[in-house]
Amino acid sequence: MGVTVKQVVDVMEGIAPSYLSEKWDNTGLLIGGMQDVVRKIMVCLDVTDSVVNEAIQNGVDMLISHHPIIFEALKNLRSDDGKGRLLHLIIKNNIAVYCAHTNLDKAPGGVDDVLAARLGLENIEPLTTEEDEKLYKIAVYIPKGHEDSVMNAMAEAGAGMVRNYSHCTFQTRGIGTFLPLEGTKPYIGQQGRIERVDEVRLETIARKRDLEDIVKAMLNVHPYEEVAYDIYPLANRIGKQGLGRIGTLRHETPFGEFAKQVCRTLGIPSVLVAGRIDRKVRVVASCAGSGASLISKAYAKGAHVFVTGEMKYHDACDVESMGMAAIVAGHYATEFLIVDELIRRLQKAFDDLQYEVEVLKALTMADPYTIIGE
Ligand SMILES: [Zn+2]
Repeated sequence: MGVTVKQVVDVMEGIAPSYLSEKWDNTGLLIGGMQDVVRKIMVCLDVTDSVVNEAIQNGVDMLISHHPIIFEALKNLRSDDGKGRLLHLIIKNNIAVYCAHTNLDKAPGGVDDVLAARLGLENIEPLTTEEDEKLYKIAVYIPKGHEDSVMNAMAEAGAGMVRNYSHCTFQTRGIGTFLPLEGTKPYIGQQGRIERVDEVRLETIARKRDLEDIVKAMLNVHPYEEVAYDIYPLANRIGKQGLGRIGTLRHETPFGEFAKQVCRTLGIPSVLVAGRIDRKVRVVASCAGSGASLISKAYAKGAHVFVTGEMKYHDACDVESMGMAAIVAGHYATEFLIVDELIRRLQKAFDDLQYEVEVLKALTMADPYTIIGE
């Protein structure tokens, strides 16, 4: 049977909401159409030649990657240059490509959480939290007897979600008044007479991205010709979501011992280290991939050591002058852990929804760097 790309995208939205993407990023469905049919998905970090060929050999309909295959604006789509040839190959084989990048980095259970957990951190919190989505309160006035149908329609469109609770509303009874003027067709009462009606004021919460759908769903089932409702912006935030993580090790650990622990836990032969490596560490900040922009944040939050995938020479100098230490473990090594985790979560979500979709891991995925020593 299979499902549509749209149904897969909806599941991915639950794992890595697109509103978490950085403004400079290019996430979401990059190739293919929402109504394409999907039976087999392959998850990878990068859409490379080898991954695409593996996907073709395995009859894959959709690739889900961490890094966006299209990032800079394309000026042409030629089949005789590297990137263009790969895009042609993907399109000719009817493979859809979806990307979850910085949104998957930040999301709870995403790339940065998986890395922090693997490093053995406890009391994990995001290093940055400025990207929370805006919340709104909607209050709607409903004639008594219709409050359940309006509540259900709004909840189905996403209203009233508070963590793992859905249908969260507060309802108060009161009297609504109105005077139907000429040209109206009132659901209750008649033209020219002031009406007093038993009404329920239903209040609920909505995320910015759902607001339009919720209002549409509410207006659809509300019996009144003219519906009275209010929308208020809120200062509440859904939760802490952001780039990078900070946490503590269970025990204070000599730096050298911690660095070796990072090698073991990420399955790599060595790491680069910089800064103050002569002391014990307990507070650890981390950011998968290229996390150097968070060095100052890590320092401000009291990190003894910052673990990331890659940084420049001058970043290492900054770490040194701050009196902090850094461990540079490689872009691939700090991110590949998410692939297995994403496959596990997708397969579970599809099984729960009874979607007949198989999720494969791209086995040809590999770190483009290797180390040669003498
Ligand atoms: Zn990356």
